[in-house]
Amino acid sequence: MTDCLFCKIVEGEVPAKIVRESERALAFRDINPQAPTHVLVIPREHRPDAAALAASSPEALAEVVGLAARVAADEGIADSGYRLVFNTGAGAGQTVFHVHAHLLGGRGLNWPPG
Ligand code: 5GP
Ligand code: ZN
Repeated sequence: MTDCLFCKIVEGEVPAKIVRESERALAFRDINPQAPTHVLVIPREHRPDAAALAASSPEALAEVVGLAARVAADEGIADSGYRLVFNTGAGAGQTVFHVHAHLLGGRGLNWPPG
């Protein structure tokens, strides 16, 4: 999609601090980090949310989760624990409608989240 910020990051038209890539997925640092590790993991293909990606390309969704786990290992937070969040819908705080997993860790994480 031409007007999608994360499609532009996939295409290299908008710069991002990319930390890992795979065939179908891309991981880059959030521009406004909420934790010592705050990485966004996205599929290269445009889908608005996790459910849409699960319906169209379950293998791409699995690759997003697998890439997030590898980034967590790279960042040294696999053992201490981390959170994967798919905000879905404006009411849940989704502002970019290209599915993305937030990988958060490196500090204590309260449950339930706000
Ligand atoms: P959402 O609110 O949709 O779940 O998450 C969108 C995230 O994208 C936010 O955490 C926000 O900080 C991040 N973000 C917004 N614009 C940019 C950008 O241009 N580059 C990067 N790396 N992250 C962005
Ligand atoms: Zn997109």
